[in-house]
Amino acid sequence: MPQLFDSDSAVPSSETFELRDDGRSASAALEGEVDAILDKALGGGEITVDEGARLFDATGDELTPLLAAADRLRREAVGDAVTYVVNRNINFTNVCVKQCGFCAFSRGHRADEGYYLPDEEVLRRAKEAVEMGATEVCVQAGLAPGMDGWHYVDLLKSIKAALPGLHVHAFSPEEVLYGSGLAGVSVAEYLAALKEAGIGSLPGTSAEILVDEVRDLISPGRITTAQWLHLIRTAHELGIPTTSTMMYGHLETAHHKALHLSRLRELQKETGGFTEFVPLGFIADEAPMHRKRRPKGLRSGPSGIETLKMYAVSRIMLHGWIHNIQVSWVKEGLKLGQVGLMAGANDLGGTLINESISTAAGSGHGQLQTPSRLRAAAREMGRLPVERDTLYHKLHIFDDPAADPQDPLDSIDDAASLFGSYHDLIQRPEHRFKAHLAQAGAERKISL
Ligand code: SF4
Repeated sequence: MPQLFDSDSAVPSSETFELRDDGRSASAALEGEVDAILDKALGGGEITVDEGARLFDATGDELTPLLAAADRLRREAVGDAVTYVVNRNINFTNVCVKQCGFCAFSRGHRADEGYYLPDEEVLRRAKEAVEMGATEVCVQAGLAPGMDGWHYVDLLKSIKAALPGLHVHAFSPEEVLYGSGLAGVSVAEYLAALKEAGIGSLPGTSAEILVDEVRDLISPGRITTAQWLHLIRTAHELGIPTTSTMMYGHLETAHHKALHLSRLRELQKETGGFTEFVPLGFIADEAPMHRKRRPKGLRSGPSGIETLKMYAVSRIMLHGWIHNIQVSWVKEGLKLGQVGLMAGANDLGGTLINESISTAAGSGHGQLQTPSRLRAAAREMGRLPVERDTLYHKLHIFDDPAADPQDPLDSIDDAASLFGSYHDLIQRPEHRFKAHLAQAGAERKISL
């Protein structure tokens, strides 16, 4: 009879089960260490950076209790609701003055694939989103060279003038820093102008890992840890809420991830301005630092279990402070995202409608999740689907499947044809950045 497992590899090595002086195996001692940390967390204790790092290193028999503890804390914090938001991404240009090593989205200003959506097109997309039931547009882009420093504020004003009820979740800390620098004002003054113009919230992107020794390797010249924390703190103090994020699965260690989480937690204790935490797995396929100048030790994005551990440890470390942990179906796919809902996460993110950044990096999970698919993913797990707004106010509680509405997005068969796609944008002749540059140069709006 053929053997299903290689007998040598199936037998644990003596090293794994070496007995210690107290008669316990080394692996049992490690399990005990994780158990003690989980007991502390379940008892309401705050997990230190070293303890968080130990949880990130959990393996073997430690994994099930880790995920179960996170799931229990999720239920304590937010119950059994699984939330989502109906929103649309508008990435109005991919041309950027920076060259972050992980970013496959950006192009130089001379690149044929550089695009730029004029304000009218941004507005058209926002209006179309509202017709599709969206309550939010998420506006982020590359740092366009020669841009007027007040462009972000002006663009926001034009959206709010046409669609005053729409929540505009826009402009990463890197973009706010860029705009304020071009405008010649402080970050606080620029944020105040955004607030005055009606900003709803800021994406807490451009965080990657909030440890400069890692940032210097993956994105030299990018906003520093201190600048990011200062900018977000300032936004919160002005009454502008933000999300928080982490990009992981590249060069960072367990300690870096735990340190990042503790920095978010400490800031949240000061301000209470974070609405959610969104872990974002590094998509390596098209990333310049993966394809061309690969730093020593670079990984190719997180594995499945690393992704689940991220949801679990972030839930445990942030417990009591940041209540919403979002899975990214764009990065992980809805299948793994759904599993993340039993590892500490409680939110499925947005419908998105358009997606460029992960698509450019090689993710193949599409640009739209319909509300009905998100609801089905929650229900399949015995959880309650809830549509929320950007700030986590509950808009619709779907406790009766028979009473589900027919959302406009549910009737869309081919999102790319109807809404356009990233691949369209980089290929079609209209909206070329070079043409925008030539026109703006002729109007003396841009000098490079
Ligand atoms: S991550 Fe942002 S700032 Fe960095 S290159 Fe990409 S678009 Fe530019």
